[in-house]
Amino acid sequence: MTTTFRGAAAAPGVGQGTVFVYLPQEHEFMRPAMRGAAAGYDPHHEWRRFEEAQRAVEQDLAEMSQVLNTVAVDIFNVHQLILNDQTLTGAVRDAIHLNQSDAAVATYQAIHDMAELFRAMDDEYFASRAADILDIGRRLLVKLGVAMDEVRLEELPEGAVLLAEDLTPSDVAHLASSAVVGVALAGSTPTAHSAILARSLGLPVVCGLGPEILEARPGVAAIVDGGKGVLLLDPDAATQARYGEILRVQEDQRHQAYDHAHEPAVTRSGERIPVYANINSPDDAAHVRHIGADGIGLLRTEYLFQGRPEPPTVAEQARVYRHLLTEMNHRVLTVRALDAGGDKPVEFLLGLPEANPFLGKRGMRLLLANPDLLRDQYLALAQVVHARRGHTPVRFMLPMVSTAEEVAAARAIIDAAHGEVFGTPRRRDEIALGVLVEVPAAALIARHLAEMVDYFSIGTNDLAQYVMAGDRTNPQVAHLADPLQPAVLHLIRLVCRAAQERELPVSVCGEVAGNVQAVPLLLGLGVTELSAPAPSVPLIKQAVRTWHMAECRDLAELTLRCATAERVHMLLDRTLPAGQRDVKP
Ligand code: PEP
Ligand code: MG
Repeated sequence: MTTTFRGAAAAPGVGQGTVFVYLPQEHEFMRPAMRGAAAGYDPHHEWRRFEEAQRAVEQDLAEMSQVLNTVAVDIFNVHQLILNDQTLTGAVRDAIHLNQSDAAVATYQAIHDMAELFRAMDDEYFASRAADILDIGRRLLVKLGVAMDEVRLEELPEGAVLLAEDLTPSDVAHLASSAVVGVALAGSTPTAHSAILARSLGLPVVCGLGPEILEARPGVAAIVDGGKGVLLLDPDAATQARYGEILRVQEDQRHQAYDHAHEPAVTRSGERIPVYANINSPDDAAHVRHIGADGIGLLRTEYLFQGRPEPPTVAEQARVYRHLLTEMNHRVLTVRALDAGGDKPVEFLLGLPEANPFLGKRGMRLLLANPDLLRDQYLALAQVVHARRGHTPVRFMLPMVSTAEEVAAARAIIDAAHGEVFGTPRRRDEIALGVLVEVPAAALIARHLAEMVDYFSIGTNDLAQYVMAGDRTNPQVAHLADPLQPAVLHLIRLVCRAAQERELPVSVCGEVAGNVQAVPLLLGLGVTELSAPAPSVPLIKQAVRTWHMAECRDLAELTLRCATAERVHMLLDRTLPAGQRDVKP
């Protein structure tokens, strides 16, 4: 008999196999016995032991990030920051020198105090960093000889559906080379680093399922549906067969899509739809070409500014943009201006504490308060474009815009910087300037903004969050922060209309652009380009090829008449091939 558990969708895809319950508590570190103050205690020796452990962990992190992908690099860079954090090392040093704790006890206490501090934070993003801190703690204590290494997750049996309370990013890194087909977590959230890493590896994950799942009988049949956020235990034969069919169809589609990845995405009615990739680091650029993307539709540049005490220089930034321009070679390159704040904290810009950082001084607001940042970023890009004139269509994009005044002020800074480099006013064929429409206010005044810029890109992740008043990092309101909510669709339509009137390109670069089912809807609403997470690009191109624009418009009209997101999802489900329809666990 099928038992269904519902949680939060953390990484899409379907995994079908058998249960393996992972209870790592027994492998967790015990509180090391206090040995300090004993005769012969040498604080300098203990401090050296800590430093050696720290260096050994640093080396492990560097090695781990190399074998996976750039998401792993980002996450393990954060782990390096934690490992070398002054507060942490200061607490260890004090415990050794002032309390005569040995290195292991001092480390244990400092890690736990720091994790507790983060866990108690209201902001979910910071609260979920506690898991990262404990992960580092475990590694340090393994090196100090008082904790066991993680169980060998990479050696799990073929087809395992892994059930656990939570996983650390290191655990997920081990899963990359395993035969695990899906992960179901009793706790955790979709914003935890473990979920982000799992998404980048294409591993389906559902989290927040509750502690009962850990009582599942090992070896029983299980299905993880990462898109719908459900775990099915002991599914009946009909459900097993339905999911088996879904997996088979998805596999066929994936093969077909990759076979045609380098061909353009043209609808059956003849419209050519550029499909770009979103990337978070220049290391992904070669991959963009490899998967057949028409360029980079969103380069998140925050990584250039994070984890350092001051902003990168113009020359430093220019090096990165030059590399990207070379890699793109005639394909589009879209550089988003620094979007700091909210879920993307940048240390040297942390200002006064804010009660609501997502509604605070972030994105465009921070750039206009620090105009040199905007100027230098544009200057770096303009210098590179000027030197390589005419090779690659380049776009610069303004994040978190709320008002026309902000666009006017940003344009003044950008146009002045352009004049400095080119000696002439900016032209859209040199560097096109666009707005990332992600605040409902910007969508509502899109007609006015369209007179000031060269293109729009719609950031549905934030647009959904702000129009629905549903925090995108909070699984409890995930049903609200859904880009397929009718309210979001009406705003997308408004932006597309404004763009059409002035014949401007309009793309979607939120995560929904990587959802195959949403393709006909977005095209029907008037979106002319798509920018998706890199692994989805071939599938999105393939989906574009299956549609006629008249069908897309009909579907968009129908969805705009829907009162609920549930109804929109139902309509999109009907567009799937017969085998994949109406899978209602
Ligand atoms: C968005 O908000 O949709 C977007 C593309 O930007 P980010 O996810 O980086 O906030
Ligand atoms: Mg955004």
